[in-house]
Amino acid sequence: MLDVNQARKVVLVLIVDMVLVNAKAYMNKAIVDCSLAIDDGKILKIGRETNMPSSDAKLNLRGFLLLPGLIDVHVHLRDEGKAYKEDFYSGTAAASAGGMTTVLDMPNNNPVTMSVETLRNRMGLAERKVLVNVGFYSEFPVEASKIQTVAREGPVGFKLYMAEQVGGLDIRDDHVIVEAFKVVGSLGMVTAAHAEDEESLRLIEHNLKSAGRNSLDAFLTAHSGDVEVKAIERLLKLARQTGMHLHFCHVSTEAGMMKIIEAKKSGLKVTCEVTPHHLFLCAKDLKRVGSLAVTMPPLRNRRDVDGLWEAVKDGSVDVIGSDHAPHTLEEKEAESVWDVKVGISGLETTLPLLLTEVRRGRISISDVVKLMSEKPADIFELKGKGWLKEGNDADLTVVDLNKKYKIEASKFQSKAKFSPFEGREVQGKTVKTIVAGRLIMEDGEIVAKPGSGRIIRRE
Ligand SMILES: [Zn+2]
Repeated sequence: MLDVNQARKVVLVLIVDMVLVNAKAYMNKAIVDCSLAIDDGKILKIGRETNMPSSDAKLNLRGFLLLPGLIDVHVHLRDEGKAYKEDFYSGTAAASAGGMTTVLDMPNNNPVTMSVETLRNRMGLAERKVLVNVGFYSEFPVEASKIQTVAREGPVGFKLYMAEQVGGLDIRDDHVIVEAFKVVGSLGMVTAAHAEDEESLRLIEHNLKSAGRNSLDAFLTAHSGDVEVKAIERLLKLARQTGMHLHFCHVSTEAGMMKIIEAKKSGLKVTCEVTPHHLFLCAKDLKRVGSLAVTMPPLRNRRDVDGLWEAVKDGSVDVIGSDHAPHTLEEKEAESVWDVKVGISGLETTLPLLLTEVRRGRISISDVVKLMSEKPADIFELKGKGWLKEGNDADLTVVDLNKKYKIEASKFQSKAKFSPFEGREVQGKTVKTIVAGRLIMEDGEIVAKPGSGRIIRRE
């Protein structure tokens, strides 16, 4: 039986859910004037306004730029045992405010996402609360033989922390890692890695602690560039034996980036991410801002920052991910640097920072869309996402390129209402976020119900 609404649609041939008019939309590497008809969560038609079907709702986008929904592949939504820092609602509200229509959630939760049970619980809980689409990473289970079973639950990829033992794999054992990579490779999936060498890190940290050093400088000494490069080299060597797609999270050093570029040139299936904080802040800012800006890997010197920008501009960087890692203010202000929780709230600052650089001519809109929509969709095989085209999901980010404002963390949707970017002048703001054809955020206000987002399960 058709309900009244469906029947009405059939009788009138086609009344779609929504038509967007007067859009300047980013499509096929150009910005074109067009209208879009949206129905049943998909882009049904793109064309002239006069050719659009009738609709239940009309949205006028005059003066704004329409982008394919942005995808943040590196987000810690927390919830469960860490819900006091962020939960599925607040985290995805922050995502929608920042223009992200899809986020991928990291597994270092309490409990750690690394089994059928933890994935199911997390997806079940998220389903009722999220405002944007959410996919989940899994850490590795203890036994490689369980990887396939975990993969059947639909994680978008696996995550491997090399800086500390988080999941089930013994990160000191090359053989164990290679065996796990082989299984992930055979499933056609990606492993995203946090590349810092645990053994070196632990040793240097131990020595510093013994010497009573607990300042920001000590943190920088422990998390040196060499510690990152060492882990990158090791992971590249191991991945080379397996054919698996290896994706590096938050590359922070020029030297590490060079290793990845070399590996790409040699034909290895490898991609990489950089974060806005490694592009827009440096070690000097860490001294200025203090422990609020403690991240892992840490902020680097000017030379590394310049090296990363070069890699963004020449296309070596595949994605920009926020590494949104919210904590309480108390956790960020611990007296000893070793007790400071690492990470910053980044979902609501990433896009404005990038759009400001578009204004300045350092990067183009094309770069932003490639780094935050096309490549993320490609790498993680997120079907129906990444491009504005008929048949794709109606996940849309609407931005006002002219809007100038100062970053004010107290206005964040995230529970972590502080930022090392506090007070920074930016130009470019998300004014509407549409997920599966539904308006989620408008002018900073959340206008949809919890559960409006969808859970992404890899088939
Ligand atoms: Zn992270």
